[in-house]
Amino acid sequence: MNHETKLTGMVVYPNDPEYQQARMNWNPFTNAFPIVFVFAQNTEDVSNAVKWARENNVPIRMRSGRHALARDFSQRDGGIVIDTSQMRNVMLNKVKGIAKVQAGIRVGPLVRMLAKEGVLAPFGDSSTVGIGGISTGGGITAIQRTAGLISDNILAATIVDAYGDVLHVSENENSDLLWALRGGGGGNFGIITSYTFTIRPAPYRVGIYQIIWPWNQLEEVVDEWQRWSPSVDERLGSILEIYTKTNGTLSSQGIFLGPKDELEKLITPLTDVGSPIRVFIDEVTLSEAIEFWAPNEPLFDTQFTTWSSAWVEQILPTDGIKAIRNFLEKAKGSESNFFFLNSGGAMNRVAPQDTAFFWRKTKYYMEWDASWTDECEAQKNINLVNRTRIQLQPYITGSYVNVPDLNIKNYGQEYYGNNFARLRRVKEKYDPDNVFNFVQSIPPASDCDHGGNK
Ligand SMILES: Cc1cc2nc3c(=O)[nH]c(=O)nc-3n(C[C@H](O)[C@H](O)[C@H](O)COP(=O)(O)OP(=O)(O)OC[C@H]3O[C@@H](n4cnc5c(N)ncnc54)[C@H](O)[C@@H]3O)c2cc1C
Repeated sequence: MNHETKLTGMVVYPNDPEYQQARMNWNPFTNAFPIVFVFAQNTEDVSNAVKWARENNVPIRMRSGRHALARDFSQRDGGIVIDTSQMRNVMLNKVKGIAKVQAGIRVGPLVRMLAKEGVLAPFGDSSTVGIGGISTGGGITAIQRTAGLISDNILAATIVDAYGDVLHVSENENSDLLWALRGGGGGNFGIITSYTFTIRPAPYRVGIYQIIWPWNQLEEVVDEWQRWSPSVDERLGSILEIYTKTNGTLSSQGIFLGPKDELEKLITPLTDVGSPIRVFIDEVTLSEAIEFWAPNEPLFDTQFTTWSSAWVEQILPTDGIKAIRNFLEKAKGSESNFFFLNSGGAMNRVAPQDTAFFWRKTKYYMEWDASWTDECEAQKNINLVNRTRIQLQPYITGSYVNVPDLNIKNYGQEYYGNNFARLRRVKEKYDPDNVFNFVQSIPPASDCDHGGNK
């Protein structure tokens, strides 16, 4: 290789005034000290950065919305960060029902803009998450039971591969890579500079609800929610969120792509459980529903956090719910919580092998995280999250690659199930030298060191 490629775009080095801001991620626990950031303005900047990194033997990380939840995914010490966050154009074609979206836009601005155009696309619970990272890992959302995962809606992509070449990905070109991008997780195959998504006409009015209970009613609420939410009308997306005992919050909220009077009837099993402190039901525009679900929020969190996630295929028994209470009694950080989102509907109608996203038989998704502010409390919180995973293990299956857990050793199986072997073959084809490798990346099929994860 020659050593002639120059970095282009907005390039930030450690001595530059922009460096400290460039290092910041949503979860400060993931911050590192890269030797250079490239804020790409176009696909060519990305391509130059990949070539430069290879010529100079510098490890690559790619980044968009800075919301990676675990260390080493989108930054590392001594590496180059190729950041697409300044590439934010959107081209909407309502006639064809597609939107071509550059990878740097965040979820909130995108779905708000689409809603104003009368168009619905799946959105998560945070407006600041990057489209670049969320989309290829799956993208679980309030409307996944109607519209599928975000990754189910990817029709095409432009990606810069491990050689710095620009590839077009669709059903007709590099279709094996399209399969892999629909659930294979960020950082593995190349830097995606744009996605083309399916969009659909928005309903004008949607129902929303929120119910809050006293914290000590946790057992009965979790039990009822997990029986009710997976089989309720699939136009209804529902979450259950429980913060620590000290914090004392236990609530459920949801979005219903239908009228309020229908929603009122549908949520009766939930309003009947325990003794709710607040029951709020309303009918609003799609734009207002997006504000309700994913309000504007700061780009960076002040707390350090560590996470684990899982899919639930069978109702949790009493011992599983006990493990949840146990965690919430011990966790102290103000953001520590358990979070549940119902699955089913369109999300589960895709066969596990049809896209790289494998977990299609689940009743719901579950994640838990512990937060802290004093750095010396990191290990204690990591241990707590890990112990809880061990206690829940008999009742859970797999894990969600967008909410990774570095304690999971057999991560290939846990994130990708039976699709892992095929993902490794796609990796072998597009990145045989394993240029894009990080702590839990997909190794090429020929990488023998990865025995445990085949
Ligand atoms: C507050 C919060 C709320 C969340 N809510 C949801 C939710 O509702 N639903 C959900 O599914 N997930 C949710 N997540 C998880 C989220 O999907 C992941 O953290 C996601 O990876 C973040 O993407 P990003 O671009 O913001 O992050 P980044 O840190 O920029 O990147 C995350 C990962 O994606 C890779 N990546 C980033 N850009 C590119 C690119 N252009 N090409 C290829 N790979 C890339 C990175 O290398 C890294 O591995 C949430 C996370 C947070 C912190």
